[in-house]
Amino acid sequence: MTGTEDGAGTSWCPSGVADAPESVLLGVRSGADGQVAYLAEPVPAATALGMVPADIEPRRILRFASHCVASCANRRGDDCTLIERVVAGFPEQESRSLPRCHLRADCKWWGQAGLAACRRCPAVSTRHHTDDERSVLVADPAATADEIDAHFAPSG
Ligand code: SF4
Repeated sequence: MTGTEDGAGTSWCPSGVADAPESVLLGVRSGADGQVAYLAEPVPAATALGMVPADIEPRRILRFASHCVASCANRRGDDCTLIERVVAGFPEQESRSLPRCHLRADCKWWGQAGLAACRRCPAVSTRHHTDDERSVLVADPAATADEIDAHFAPSG
């Protein structure tokens, strides 16, 4: 999948921004485990944002999708380093069936990492608490997948 930003073949980021013209709601973090439940059909981000109470940071509870752009801090050439860190930092939920999500045909993470991405994607929060060490490391463009792997490797 290429990283073109307009026209056919545009890749979409599943941890995207809410304020781009094309932004859509991808899913909602819900339930006791806070995993993302994906929408069957995209909803314009502006519509979703209008339903979030003013005192809540929308990206704590919602995941948005927007175009994968060359200026992103997570881009390395045509690759997304964020999904590399997600795969290194979050355990694969092998028992989960493939999430039904509307983005798959154009999803950058799926195109780059396939099942390994989709089995971790529901655990990702775009805005997380600063005491969530795993999420902080995974979100840091300066961290490498190897460093994250080593950090969470069982000791002994
Ligand atoms: S990684 Fe998989 S589940 Fe997540 S948005 Fe992409 S296709 Fe959907």
